[in-house]
Amino acid sequence: MASEQTLDSLLTEDRSFPPPPEFARQAHVSDPAIYEQAEADPEAYWARWAGELHWFRPWDQVLEWEPPFAKWFVGGTLNAAYNCLDRHLDGPRRTKTALLWEGEPGDRKSFTYEELHAEVCRAANALRKLGVGKGDRVAIYLPMIPEAAVAMLACARIGAAHSVVFGGFSSESLRDRINDAKARLLITADGGYRRGGIVPLKRAADEALTEQGGCPSIEHVLVVRRHVEGEAVGGAQMEDGRDLWWHDVVAGEGAEAPAEEMDAEDLLYILYTSGTTGKPKGIMHTTGGYLTQAYATTKWVFDLKEDDVYWCTADVGWVTGHSYLVYGPLANGATVLMYEGAPDAPDRGRFWKIIQDYKVTIFYTAPTAIRAFMKWGTEWPSRFDLSSLRLLGTVGEPINPEAWIWYHLNIGHERCPIVDTWWQTETGAIMITPLPGVTETVPGSATRTFPGIHADILTLQGDCIDAGGGFLAIRRPWPSMLRGIWGDPERFRDTYWSKWQGMTVAGDQPGEGVYFPGDGAKRDERGYFWVIGRIDDVLNVAGHRIGTMEVESALVDHPAVAEAAVVGKAHELKGQAVAAFVTLKDGLAPTDELKRELSEHVVRKIGAIARPDAILFAGDLPKTRSGKIMRRLLKDIAEGRALGDTTTLADPSVVARLKDDYESKGEG
Ligand code: ATP
Ligand code: MG
Repeated sequence: MASEQTLDSLLTEDRSFPPPPEFARQAHVSDPAIYEQAEADPEAYWARWAGELHWFRPWDQVLEWEPPFAKWFVGGTLNAAYNCLDRHLDGPRRTKTALLWEGEPGDRKSFTYEELHAEVCRAANALRKLGVGKGDRVAIYLPMIPEAAVAMLACARIGAAHSVVFGGFSSESLRDRINDAKARLLITADGGYRRGGIVPLKRAADEALTEQGGCPSIEHVLVVRRHVEGEAVGGAQMEDGRDLWWHDVVAGEGAEAPAEEMDAEDLLYILYTSGTTGKPKGIMHTTGGYLTQAYATTKWVFDLKEDDVYWCTADVGWVTGHSYLVYGPLANGATVLMYEGAPDAPDRGRFWKIIQDYKVTIFYTAPTAIRAFMKWGTEWPSRFDLSSLRLLGTVGEPINPEAWIWYHLNIGHERCPIVDTWWQTETGAIMITPLPGVTETVPGSATRTFPGIHADILTLQGDCIDAGGGFLAIRRPWPSMLRGIWGDPERFRDTYWSKWQGMTVAGDQPGEGVYFPGDGAKRDERGYFWVIGRIDDVLNVAGHRIGTMEVESALVDHPAVAEAAVVGKAHELKGQAVAAFVTLKDGLAPTDELKRELSEHVVRKIGAIARPDAILFAGDLPKTRSGKIMRRLLKDIAEGRALGDTTTLADPSVVARLKDDYESKGEG
């Protein structure tokens, strides 16, 4: 039994997958000695990585650490856009494809490094003419179109920090984020394509700018025309003096623009977290350390090679779209694929068709997508040639082992290593992950820290747990760590650095310097990490503290189940009882018999302690706009309360429907 200090550990997993020998042979990293080398002198190790970037001026000091404030590569100057573009122009990468793009309607574009550089320079010149420069903030509210990457890099080039707001967010969310950052310029589009329909971005932007006080800091709005020949998009109204068409102001500019010399610690961007737990936080990332770790992790985790076609499905509105669609891969000179639309438009084979058409070699997506593919069935991927793939990745939530196996069999065809990467908006880059050429993977585990990162599982009192569950902690500063929460230094300290404040961690470290990411995790006998859910979501059943992932994984292990979410609901005797919300695979009928079977399955898999008291079949689960399950709302339902804040949900009707269902079936 676990105390308040720790978490129970219920799930065991016997399947493991060593790196395929032919993969290991060609991998960047195939010698595990790299871990000890990094550990022997982490600063020297990170400095070696930074040395692979282009610096205008070298740093004087690798790290200055006054917890919780870190400065990396102190005194060095560089430019992120220069590193992503200019430094590739001297050799054969000049004419290499940098960006392959496909719109949802099927329109295509591609840019060589030379062409992308020219586009970014034109945009940078246009921004400068609009009076935007070093130290300013620019809000970007765009669909997944090439201009999104161009706009980000143009900001980086002139030293303005971007704040990308996911195109699926409402006008209100956009307004809050613009006002919080006091952005001077907004870059948006008339619309974007999603599931055959049009997302009218400019209309939402107009609402943000005019209603409820508007956005007083905005001076201009730059509008990209996202149109397919013959179709009218969105009906954007242009306001004289404020609004300008992107093509009017950018196209006529020169294809050269000097890159601002930025201090390593100058702000590169602000990004608001995806909002699974509460009020979004404006996470600040600076230039030198961020780019170093984004670069390093892209190269090693994805084993990125010169001829790879790399596809990350994340939207630029999320941190994954920043680090692994733009900065990491372009700093590595990769060929990056970007796709505008939904995975089921026009049908459920779209992703697999894209992989086939472009001969994608590396594919990085999220568990929420993988669970949807599982639900839709194997016939979709089986119709396409996926033999170009050599590596698969996942990020965003714990991946249930059964979803991992599905991915491995049906997409990777047992040939491709899977990298399950744990990290956050706050960490800026991957922190816990396999290295595909050396790490034996285990479904559901993100395995080991990236070389140079030091994580542990701690009790509430700061003792280390070598095997078992507790609080995930990062014990050393890392280059791409957040530098703060925009405008809220107190919240920065409270949220991330106060868990072990005033304590001694692991016998010898002051708790002030230990970062708490908010996740519960366990370590197994191999020393592998398993992130088993957010600490806020932990269940407490008869004194057992249980992470959501283990019970959910036991449910998803049943062949009928595609997705599951569990929450603890108040119970007189046990403290809490398990309530489970389950989505079945397509074509399967929800029956009472199946309910009993699922209940027994959980007991068999992980024990009677986790037996669900209530199971509700749900066509959909409430998710954030980034696709993550929002358990606190399910808890409200299970405990018969009014629903809490639903503004960050992708589709609020899902949870309203579930609530009705739950109450009408008398589960509460
Ligand atoms: P908010 O912080 O606003 O509540 P969020 O935590 O969903 O939103 P992100 O930074 O996008 O915002 O997500 C990071 C979180 O996602 C991690 O803290 C963790 O809970 C989860 N996560 C990401 N990758 C993994 C992974 N590979 N395994 C397990 N959990 C993961
Ligand atoms: Mg978070």
